Amino acid sequence: MIESQMQTKISSFFKSAENDDEDDDLSFWEKQEDDIINTYSRTRPNPNAVSSPSNTQTQRPNNTTYAQFHLDFGQSDFLLRACPTCGMNFTPGDPHDDKSHTQFHKSFTHGIQFRGWTQETVIPLPTLQSGRILVVSETAPSSHRKKAQEVVRMMEIELGSEWILHHLCKVYLFVSLHRIVGCLVAEPIKEAFKVVSASLDSVKKRKVKPCSTTLQFGNVIFQRELQKKVASVTHSERMEGALFCHSEPTAAACGIRAIWVTPSNRRKGIATQLLDAVRVRKSFCTGLELEHSQLAFSQPTSAGKALATSYTGTGSFLAY
Ligand SMILES: [Zn+2]
Repeated sequence: MIESQMQTKISSFFKSAENDDEDDDLSFWEKQEDDIINTYSRTRPNPNAVSSPSNTQTQRPNNTTYAQFHLDFGQSDFLLRACPTCGMNFTPGDPHDDKSHTQFHKSFTHGIQFRGWTQETVIPLPTLQSGRILVVSETAPSSHRKKAQEVVRMMEIELGSEWILHHLCKVYLFVSLHRIVGCLVAEPIKEAFKVVSASLDSVKKRKVKPCSTTLQFGNVIFQRELQKKVASVTHSERMEGALFCHSEPTAAACGIRAIWVTPSNRRKGIATQLLDAVRVRKSFCTGLELEHSQLAFSQPTSAGKALATSYTGTGSFLAY
């Protein structure tokens, strides 16, 4: 007998809720005191049904003629949504989640709030008209390094996680209106490779195996760009492409590991000013001011290639 009741209940899953017989079956299901929480909503109220708080919470006005069941077993991602801009997972309609997302979204798009430090290492940049650029190295106070790590975690949302920062890196922060709106991570390197060409079409035709980041064709090294996790499809274009480099290395001192500007502050020249700050004397290399062409770029995205080309004034910039 129990078996036949259960069978009816399951079949009602897919049938119209307008049928009175079906409503009776649903009522039976509703009155069961099971451990499973019943959160379905019906399209037509049954006057005989026992209402429960869970029913009223999930009821929504629509014209569908089918009853919908959700079985909430307490799964953590039951109603989670990912913001296409900042990538944060949250439950829309949950006041706490909505507030957290709003705060994080603003930090991501406009920059993390920053009150400044009493002992900042400011890079003097004559071309800087507003804001200031700070540098944080491994010898900086832990509070400074923690702030830099917080910014790098923001960068990782678009550039991929757990590869950007290591202990030899110097982190350059662009501060404007009490927010950190841009960040550049530089590392000491010994050699880099001059780019030969960067044709997207010709690269795609070669069907490179995805197991390695570097392949060599004769005297030319083919460097495949890492496909990084991105928060939005609109960013995917920037993640495509590859570089052809000379196989003969060139001596280099400073590698631009990653550079990132918050979405609402792009196209304001902030990336260029961060690059200028790296070249300043006593900034990255003690006692040595670097030329534009002496900066090398690590695995640049399409946007990074455009920046490197315009900044160095040549398509044959250094990559590593
Ligand atoms: Zn968001």
